[in-house]
Amino acid sequence: MNSTTVLWFRRDLRLADNPALLAAAESADRVLPLFVLDDRLRRHSGAPRLAFLYRCLRALDESLGGRLVVVRGKPANVLPRLTKEVDANEVHISADHGPYGAKRDRAVADALGETRLVSTGSAYAIPPGEITKSDGHPFRVFTPFYQAWRRHGWPTPAPTADPDGIRWANGVRSTGIPADPALPKGMHLPNGGEQAAQQQWREFDVAGYPDGRDRPAHPATSRMSPYLKFGCVHPRSLLADLHGPGAETYRKELAWREFYADVLWHQPDSARDYYQPRFAKMRYDSDNAAFEAWAYGRTGYPIVDAGMRQLLAEGWMHNRVRMIVASFLVKDLHQEWTRGARWFLDHLVDGDLASNQHNWQWVAGCGTDAAPYFRIFNPVTQGRKFDPDGEYARRYIPELASIEGAAIHEPWKLTNPPANYPHRIVDHADERSEALKRLAEIKD
Ligand code: FAD
Repeated sequence: MNSTTVLWFRRDLRLADNPALLAAAESADRVLPLFVLDDRLRRHSGAPRLAFLYRCLRALDESLGGRLVVVRGKPANVLPRLTKEVDANEVHISADHGPYGAKRDRAVADALGETRLVSTGSAYAIPPGEITKSDGHPFRVFTPFYQAWRRHGWPTPAPTADPDGIRWANGVRSTGIPADPALPKGMHLPNGGEQAAQQQWREFDVAGYPDGRDRPAHPATSRMSPYLKFGCVHPRSLLADLHGPGAETYRKELAWREFYADVLWHQPDSARDYYQPRFAKMRYDSDNAAFEAWAYGRTGYPIVDAGMRQLLAEGWMHNRVRMIVASFLVKDLHQEWTRGARWFLDHLVDGDLASNQHNWQWVAGCGTDAAPYFRIFNPVTQGRKFDPDGEYARRYIPELASIEGAAIHEPWKLTNPPANYPHRIVDHADERSEALKRLAEIKD
């Protein structure tokens, strides 16, 4: 046999635990490793996520000895052309369950004609759609999903491919990995790629996770989200490596990622539409000045502003603070969750349609689970509880650097509030009442 197959990398930018790569290597003499720079995905990724993706691609290319072929274009045009060029009769992929990815893959399969699109594995421990309630309906609440997910179980990690043991096809012109897009001044992104993911994982202390995970000032969470986003690591590998205290708490968090992917798979319009339709009828505001104050960290509420500034500085924000800032936009500024979700997707390196949109809907009270709208985060008590020394707020808000302790969370109460930090743009107590009034209007 002297055959060639194409391995089309997408959200699986790694050599370890990559069943699609192993399937490709087994199916032919030579493998052409390919990444398609799809303009549509490029347009919808903000500069931080694009820069991080390029870093992951550079790392992958390096581990493949510089053999990664990168081609720009529409996958349904690129794949048929390339398979013809290298005379491949199969294209191997790991399944993409997102609405765009699934549609794109159907179009590619059609365009390939006789050439088979072979899908092995997915970006999840259990592929979306695989577990349902006993009546066959999808889960709409996390806890029963989690129990079913645990009962179902997942395979052990696949062996790591040895790049030297695979014959890579060459001779195909690569346009190369683009230079990083311009990033906001001073922005610092994590290192990309599989080795960086493994390093980050080695540094993570799962035993300290349950107690430390809600403290944004301290690095107690794993920061694996950007790596999971691009498949520099598979969640199955993380699950297999979880032991001892903290393991169950962490497993549950990974399961939220799987739950939201499942929700999106069953109901793709939940990425745009209200999961609970009555919320579409609520009165919302669209004041641009208020939105900008939120987006650029100038609301006058330090925990909100620190979070939004962390996002601008790092392309990432701590989970607890994501919840606080999302609640503030929806319930204090009365804006639609979709607007905030878009801003997040433009700025997050881990920006992921399923996790982002459904977390936003959850905080907004219109999503899955019992997250009642009337549970409204108070930015002062949240700040005092989860950033009790004010360390997180001080780190991202230099205007408040000289204020000690928890007093930082109510700068308007200081005898001499810093002149260069904005006065709070709304009064939380008033806006809470307003939010509840609007909720009462849509009661069915
Ligand atoms: P850890 O606490 O170490 O958790 C480990 C992993 O579990 C995470 O990497 C992630 O894959 C998963 N996870 C944890 N919490 C959640 C959750 N609530 N929902 C789904 N998965 C979870 N996460 C994204 O990956 N992409 C997003 O675009 C995204 N947008 C969000 C928007 C809002 C408004 C909120 C409240 C949360 C969002 N999250 C999103 C979930 C969560 O904030 C991040 O996954 C987490 O902060 C990433 O940091 P970490 O890897 O250190 O998390």
